[in-house]
Amino acid sequence: MTQKKGIAILGSTGSIGTQALEVIAAYPDFFDLQVITAGKNADLLIEQALKFQPNTVVISDEAQYQKVKTALSKEDIHVYAGDEALCQVVESNDVHTVLTALVGYAGLKPTLRAIYAKKTIALANKETLVVAGELVTRLARENGVNIYPVDSEHSAIFQCLVGEFHNKIEKIYLTASGGPFRGWTEEQLKTVKKEQALKHPNWSMGAKITIDSATLMNKGLEVIEAKWLFNLKPEEIDVIVHPQSIVHSLVQFQDGSMKAQMGLPDMKLPIQFALTFPDRFQTDFPRFNFMDYPQLTFEKPDRAVFKNLDLAFKAMEMGGTAACILNAANEVSVEAFLKDQIQFLDIAEINEKTMLGLNFVPNPAYEDYVESDLQARAFAQSLVKK
Ligand code: NDP
Ligand code: MG
Repeated sequence: MTQKKGIAILGSTGSIGTQALEVIAAYPDFFDLQVITAGKNADLLIEQALKFQPNTVVISDEAQYQKVKTALSKEDIHVYAGDEALCQVVESNDVHTVLTALVGYAGLKPTLRAIYAKKTIALANKETLVVAGELVTRLARENGVNIYPVDSEHSAIFQCLVGEFHNKIEKIYLTASGGPFRGWTEEQLKTVKKEQALKHPNWSMGAKITIDSATLMNKGLEVIEAKWLFNLKPEEIDVIVHPQSIVHSLVQFQDGSMKAQMGLPDMKLPIQFALTFPDRFQTDFPRFNFMDYPQLTFEKPDRAVFKNLDLAFKAMEMGGTAACILNAANEVSVEAFLKDQIQFLDIAEINEKTMLGLNFVPNPAYEDYVESDLQARAFAQSLVKK
């Protein structure tokens, strides 16, 4: 029998992480769960460790180390804490693929360390490519590392490209559900409550990405993610709203032919494909039925009302640290919205002001990204307090 594939899941306590554990548990002859990590949720990490018996667990919140260590003292499981441990565990010889399912900028450093260690990356943490796509993809090329997308739209594009990697892409269309406020006016959006924004029509996800979906920032981040994953120019990427979330994205080739990938919205499929590529494993996931969806519809995104999408296109065109600045501002503004410190429309306003307020570095090194992230966070935070 061939060797099992050693997997590290960074962010196993999140929405993607918990679904990834289900995928891995379904194929015990194929996967070997090596590492799981949590930010703060020690209870769930302990529960997962007892159930799935990984080799190693990491809790980033060092204050909770003793709790996790004590709970797992009878198990044959290594326990570590802190951000440096998170980076070190991905370098283990027993890890083949690192699934990056952390949320936000925090994913960048461990992903870079995994690339230096020549691990295959299954990338859910889109912010990594938004912040430092040039650096990440260059290092991946230099180290012979493949980055397989987990984000459903990018997985769709990737699945359409299988067998077509030598053919030039003319354009890609990323589909967007439009979120809970599709069709709403600016006036209506002024009074939106957090609870409304947290109700996504088709997907159940972590809080940050759910708010990003409601503001269309998620699609903006995905546009930038696609640029780096598929080496595209800004004019080769378009966004189309498709409220049913059945067509997960499309590729248009030079001869005008278009390919789409379809299926019911279920993140387990793209997670699994990223871990089993180039193979497809049999699943019992519910199948699509045409009669349940007699109409699949498409419409233009409202870029005047949902300004974040335009900001992302602008940041992509600017290059350098522009997207890093936008991402940092957005992490701060979304968190402030979730804490009821600002209104829904303030999110895009803070993002725009931060982009305008900071100088960007055209040809950044890693340290420039770190510095820009810090500056943009401080700037955005000062706007929250006003
Ligand atoms: P969640 O908020 O549900 O989970 C995030 C995970 O990261 C948790 O395990 C959390 O730990 C951990 N974490 C958060 N901050 C830190 C930190 N500073 N240091 C270490 N660990 C941290 O997010 P999702 O699973 O929804 O999303 C994860 C990523 O995948 C995001 O980048 C998102 O954009 C992307 N994605 C998600 C999709 C989805 O369906 N959810 C779809 C497509 C992409 P803890 O909870 O223990 O604190
Ligand atoms: Mg997506």
